[in-house]
Amino acid sequence: MPEVILECSCGDLAKLIMSWSNDNPGRRFFGCNKFGSRFRKPCRFFSWFDPSLTPRSRMVLLGLLKKLRTLEDTRKRERRTWFWCL
Ligand SMILES: [Zn+2]
Repeated sequence: MPEVILECSCGDLAKLIMSWSNDNPGRRFFGCNKFGSRFRKPCRFFSWFDPSLTPRSRMVLLGLLKKLRTLEDTRKRERRTWFWCL
């Protein structure tokens, strides 16, 4: 993904970030570098870059992510089994 950066109204930079929440899987948004409580003067700038997902797209994406995680878990377990066999 090419890096896209905006200058936020607070003077810091807002980067394009990918959301992996269950409500918005794969949807990109701009978030200020100073977003979050770890900053003394946090900035609340947040703006969606991609349009909202249709319920069907969200369902398909979440289904694919679940399958991917299951496959990754299976692969990790198999690797561990091989390690103990060698
Ligand atoms: Zn900001």
